Amino acid sequence: MAVAGGKRSGLSIMVVHRLHNMDARRPGRIEAWHGEGVTRRRGDKEEQAMKAAVIERPGRLVMADRDPVEPAAHEVRIRVMASGICGTDLHIYSGDYLGTYPVIPGHEISGIVDAVGAHTSRLQPGDRVAVEPNIACDNCRACLNNRQNFCENWQAIGVTLPGGMAECVVAPEKAVFPLGDVSFEAGAFVEPLSCVLHGIERTGVRLGDRVLVVGAGPIGILLTQTILLQGAFHITQVDRVPERLSMASQCGARDTERSVDALPDGEFDVVVDATGVPALMAETVRLTRPGGTVLLFGVPPQDAQLALEAFPIFRKGLTILSSYTSVRNSLQAVRIIRSGRIDVAPLVSHRLPLDELEHGLSLAESGADGAMKVQILPNGAPEGV
Ligand SMILES: [Zn+2]
Ligand SMILES: [Zn+2]
Repeated sequence: MAVAGGKRSGLSIMVVHRLHNMDARRPGRIEAWHGEGVTRRRGDKEEQAMKAAVIERPGRLVMADRDPVEPAAHEVRIRVMASGICGTDLHIYSGDYLGTYPVIPGHEISGIVDAVGAHTSRLQPGDRVAVEPNIACDNCRACLNNRQNFCENWQAIGVTLPGGMAECVVAPEKAVFPLGDVSFEAGAFVEPLSCVLHGIERTGVRLGDRVLVVGAGPIGILLTQTILLQGAFHITQVDRVPERLSMASQCGARDTERSVDALPDGEFDVVVDATGVPALMAETVRLTRPGGTVLLFGVPPQDAQLALEAFPIFRKGLTILSSYTSVRNSLQAVRIIRSGRIDVAPLVSHRLPLDELEHGLSLAESGADGAMKVQILPNGAPEGV
C-alpha cells in the first residue's frame, strides 16, 4: 500500500527530496532506509539523520538512519518522547497482524511538536502531544456513519504508516491531541486508554455491578480502573502472575484469583476477557449471570477458533460484545489521565532507549523481569517528567 506516498505527492519541490524515504514501500526506495552515517548530504544541505527502528519483514528488526521527514500541509512532526510497546507490535514483529513491511512500529506515542505543515491550525511547535494512530479517511461509508474504527481506507501509524519507534514521527494534525501538563510517560497511554474507554462504553457497566476482569496486564488494569470510574465497585481480577494481581489490588480490584476455575458460575453482571486466550474467552459464558454481558476485549491469535457452549448463551440471554480500537475517545482519555482519576504511572515497568527495542519486545512478550508496560524513549529521558 502506498497511500502515504500518494498523499504526499502534491508537496512543493523544496521538501519532496526529503520525503522519498516515506515511500519505502515502493520498489527501489527501500535502500534509502539503511544509511550508515549520522548525517547525509543532499545537494548543499547537510541534515541530521533520524534514528528509527524498522521491522523489515516478520522477525527482522534493524536500526536505520533515515532522512528527517517534513510534515505535509495538514500534518505535524513530533519528536517522540515515549512510545509504548503493545501486543500489536509483537504481532507485527511476528508477522500475524495487519502490518505492511517494512514498517517503523509504535503507535502509543507522546512527544513534542517540532514542525507544522502549512495548512495546520491548532498546534504549534513546542506543544506536548499524544497521537491517535488510527487514521480514518472521514469520507467512506463507515466514517460517514461515525464508525471511523471501521474506515474502509484505514491506515495506522506504526502499522501501515511509519510509527513512533523513531526519533520523529509525522501525523495528521487531526490525529494529534495536546497533553497539557500530562507527563510523556502517561501521554503514551492515551491510545490504549482510548481503546479501553470504547470497550467499556459498549458494555454499559452500571453503578454497583459486579465485574470480572480476566487478565491483569497493562490493559486488564486499565480496564479495571475504567470500570471503577464507571461506577462498578466490586471487581474481581484473575491472572496467573501474583505480582500482577497485587498491582490489580492496588489499582482497585477487590478480589483477585490465580485461575477462573475457582470462581462460581453465574456470579458476575459483566465479564471482560483481557487475555485473548480462546480457552479463557470460552469460560466467560459460565461465569456471567443470566441477562449479563460479556466483553471479549483481548486480541486472539488470527486463526483462533472459539468453542462456546451454545445452550447457556441462549438460556442466560447473554449479550456478547467485542470491541475494536476506539472512536473519538482520545480527548476523553487525555482528560481522564489529566484528572488523575486513572493513574497509569505504576503500569510502566521498563523505560528503554530506542536501540533496545528488540529486548523490549521480548520483555513485553514474556512478561519476564516483572514486565508490564515497556516504553521506548527514542530521544532519551525527558527533563523534569
Ligand atoms: Zn496498542
Ligand atoms: Zn473512512
